[in-house]
Amino acid sequence: MEVIKVTPRGYCYGVVDAMEVARKAARDPSLPRPIHIIGLIVHNRFAVEELARLGVVTLDGSNRVAILDQVAEGTVIFTAHGVSPRVKERARERGLHIIDATCPDVTKTHDLVLDFAGRGYQVLYIGKKGHPEPEGVMGEAPGAVYLVETEADLDSLPDRITQAEKLLVTTQTTLSQWDTARLVEAIRRRFPHAEVYNEICKATQDRQEAVARMARGADLTIVVGDPRSNNTNRLVQVAEELAESPAIRIESLADLPPGILEGKKRVAVTAGASTPSQVTREVIQFVQSFGISTRVLPQFDGEERPPQSATHATVPAMRDDV
Ligand code: SF4
Repeated sequence: MEVIKVTPRGYCYGVVDAMEVARKAARDPSLPRPIHIIGLIVHNRFAVEELARLGVVTLDGSNRVAILDQVAEGTVIFTAHGVSPRVKERARERGLHIIDATCPDVTKTHDLVLDFAGRGYQVLYIGKKGHPEPEGVMGEAPGAVYLVETEADLDSLPDRITQAEKLLVTTQTTLSQWDTARLVEAIRRRFPHAEVYNEICKATQDRQEAVARMARGADLTIVVGDPRSNNTNRLVQVAEELAESPAIRIESLADLPPGILEGKKRVAVTAGASTPSQVTREVIQFVQSFGISTRVLPQFDGEERPPQSATHATVPAMRDDV
């Protein structure tokens, strides 16, 4: 069996950074206790469990202001997905020590929306309903931003969007670039005057393009990641629709259906941007045990290294990428 280790895969620089921020907080005795994370630091159970072992408590829920109200004292960490200004304000009102692990790419979208809304634009934001990232971005300008997920949503837009003379279209960072391009095209047909800023991050694009290219012709593509991870689910979609490879998502090796590798000649393996390397490595090792041939890109074998300029915290070594 040929095992295609799709590269890049797994942890992106935003996730590496957020995890390191949380680990550093756990090790810092000067920080007020307890330490809570408001939401999942990244959408991966194993990452959350690692922080729990370090004494960092994760509180999850659909409304971050409501989650915050469960915290009486200590330190709160905001996750890589970003939070709305209202959440930050509430944390300050409650006298909590704040650590912000928002990915710089998400912050960039917040700034974009704030800037355009401040100049009188209405904003059509393409994102996933119920995901924390749109919740945070929409909170920057609650009266100006409207969330759409599919083309069908365009049939029920409010007047403030349909009649807006100044209209910005922008996106969540972890969407499928092909789906988004189709939706943007549909929006442009209705609103030719709209200004479009695609904010799908480079890490997401690189992982999707790698799957589209490398998984082509694979008898099976295994995507390792959490069911709540949007970018993980998009990789499954890309494998099926763009690479035309049957694909499954598993959280870890324990989820791999018995017998699924039987008779397969080429199997591709990739991982969502929030999947720890060790979890993916176990899957790769298991799949390799079925065959002798492994193909990787020549540059490097593994997850993306964090760029020097993209972090807001120091990342001394990529612990998850050894
Ligand atoms: S997927 Fe993109 S936006 Fe999300 S944490 Fe990673 S780099 Fe940042």
